[in-house]
Amino acid sequence: MYHQPTITRAEILEATGLNPASLSHCMKRLIRAGLVLRVGELGAKAGRPADLLRLNSEAAYFVAVDLEASPIRFALSNLLGEIRYRWEEGDPAKAMDVSVIKRGVDMVCRPLSAREREAVLSVSICRPGIVDAEGRVTSVNLGWEKFPFAEKLREVLDRPVFVENAGKAYLLAERWFGAAAGVQDCIFVEVGKGVGGAIFSRGEFFRGRTQAEFGHMTVEPGASDLCKCGKAGCMEAIASANNVVRQYLDRVGLPGRLVSTLTVNEVIDRARRGDLHALAVVDRAMRALGLGLSYLLAIFTPEVFVVGGYFLGCEDFLLPRLRAEVASHAREWNGTYRIVPCATGSDIGLRGATALAFHHAIEDPAMLSRLSGTEPVVRRSRKSPE
Ligand SMILES: [Zn+2]
Repeated sequence: MYHQPTITRAEILEATGLNPASLSHCMKRLIRAGLVLRVGELGAKAGRPADLLRLNSEAAYFVAVDLEASPIRFALSNLLGEIRYRWEEGDPAKAMDVSVIKRGVDMVCRPLSAREREAVLSVSICRPGIVDAEGRVTSVNLGWEKFPFAEKLREVLDRPVFVENAGKAYLLAERWFGAAAGVQDCIFVEVGKGVGGAIFSRGEFFRGRTQAEFGHMTVEPGASDLCKCGKAGCMEAIASANNVVRQYLDRVGLPGRLVSTLTVNEVIDRARRGDLHALAVVDRAMRALGLGLSYLLAIFTPEVFVVGGYFLGCEDFLLPRLRAEVASHAREWNGTYRIVPCATGSDIGLRGATALAFHHAIEDPAMLSRLSGTEPVVRRSRKSPE
């Protein structure tokens, strides 16, 4: 029902395999609770016309927070993931504090009536950085060192809080709203401040035994490009936004200069206009990325790579180069695959956080019963968001 504007009972029966009596019982409850609306009738040649049903988009709300953005972005979305209110908060130059998040959450909920505020089910956050086994977050961008983020947030917010790694949230966004809708094997590659992402394999997120960070695969052994991970020659050390700018400034004899003013998009623009130094740097970045993606292709054989970050707006120039690099390393037995730009644009973090919130709402029996105003009607095994 989430993915279709309207649906009939017969279509639900076919998709779920429920028996007609159970479905009728469920639907009565959901309609009574206001979660499902009867919006029309579909005429039939014989017998009763079929009801057209749809989810009531205003039955519940979520707050989504994108901590990867600076300033931090907040959105209030309805049950269908449509963004209703937006807010930005926080000084990127300062270490982030949970009070900033509390204020942003309050601001996007402010236009709601008291009844609507009651229907805000959760706060869902996508965050940068790495998290340890105790749930403490370390992020250079946010000024955090082993910060017990989720724990602190739960102290100040009076709703369930979900926190997810930005790469995973981006992949969720693209699977729910974007370029990888319904795909069971896909990889999201973010090429921005760093290089990273998430891997969805056979319908589940790939999880390593410890923190897996494919952006730090060495793609140029012996290269002198130092990475913040302490090694040299990683995908990130060559292809991240800052590293593209750094290499360009080195080549034109301005090492370290203009770093704060020149952006990666300007370097790409110069390459587009025929600046040979810029072109060499961009080509090297695409070679590094292409080699790294070919490793991922060889291991995970995804159907789709979705690429975000500085590719947005320059995909016409960058993607053909990246595709050619990957193709030069791909083997026939890897099968067909596509490399596409992300479709959710700059809202990807907010969309991902919303998808995460919706997933938790339908997976968590307590939240589902709050949503439907009844006993839990659907129980599914807990597993990765799909
Ligand atoms: Zn590295």
